[in-house]
Amino acid sequence: MGRRGGGPMIAPALSVAGVSHAYGTRKALDDVTLTVEQGQFTALLGLNGAGKTTLLSLVTRLFDTRTGSISVLGNRIDRDPGAALRQLGVVFQARTLDLDLSVKDNLLFHAALHGIGGREARQRMLQVLEDVSLANRKGDKARLLSGGQMRRVEIARALLHRPRLLVLDEPTVGLDVESKLAIVTHVRTLVRQHGVAVLWTTHLLDEIEPSDNVVILHQGKRMAAGLLSDVVAQTGANSLRGAFASLTGSRDAPA
Ligand code: ATP
Repeated sequence: MGRRGGGPMIAPALSVAGVSHAYGTRKALDDVTLTVEQGQFTALLGLNGAGKTTLLSLVTRLFDTRTGSISVLGNRIDRDPGAALRQLGVVFQARTLDLDLSVKDNLLFHAALHGIGGREARQRMLQVLEDVSLANRKGDKARLLSGGQMRRVEIARALLHRPRLLVLDEPTVGLDVESKLAIVTHVRTLVRQHGVAVLWTTHLLDEIEPSDNVVILHQGKRMAAGLLSDVVAQTGANSLRGAFASLTGSRDAPA
C-alpha cells in the first residue's frame, strides 16, 4: 500500500512481491518485486527471454504464482481472483480476436464474460470502438482488419469492463510506424485523461518517455526500477539506452 500526500492509504494498481517462476529447471523469474501506482505508466523492459511474458502470465493467472504474491488494486490474485481480474484489462502478445466473428461480436462476447449484457454492452462496445476510431468497422469480420486495427480492437476490448489496470505485452510488435503511434498515443491518453494504470512490456526504448517509470528485467531478475531519470542516474549512464546496455550487458541496446 502507498500513501499519497498524507491522505488515505491507496493500494497500488499492481503489486508484485518476491515472485519467482521456473519451467522445470529453467528459472524464468527470480524474486521479482515491482509496483505500478494507480494512474501511472510503467514500461517493463527486457531483451528476449528476460521473463516479461512469464510475469504477465502470472499477473493474468494463466499460471499459478507459487512463490511470492501479486495483487491488483489491493486484491490478491490467488485469494480473490474475481475482484483482481475485474480491475484488470489484458492485451496479449499473440492475437486473440476470433477472426470469424464481427468486431462487434468479439466485443459483446467479452462483455458477456464480464456479466455485461443488453443495451449497456452495446453502448460500451460503440464507445470503446469510437475511442480507437474503429466504430465504422464494427460489422466487419475481424479477419478483414489490418494488424494495427486488430490490435486497436484488442485494446478496446480490454477496456470494455473499465479496468483500473491495463497490461500489454509488446503491443506494437510487427506494426507499421503509423499504427504504432496510434496505439502508443491512445494508451497514453488513457493514463493522462482517465487515470488508468498501465504496464507496457516492450524491448523498444523509443516507446518510453522521460517521465515514465521503468522496470528493467534481465534473465529473470529485476535489474532496476523507478523513474527513468533515476534509473539512468543510478547506472552512471547518460541515456536509457546506455543504462539498459550496462544493466543487461548487451552491447546492442534495442531500438
Ligand atoms: P520475449 O521478449 O522473447 O517475448 P520474454 O521477456 O517475454 O521474452 P519469457 O517468454 O517470459 O521472456 O521467457 C523467459 C524464459 O523462460 C526464457 O528462458 C524462455 O526460454 C523460458 N520459457 C518461456 N516460456 C516457456 C515455456 N512454456 N516452457 C519452458 N520455458 C519457457
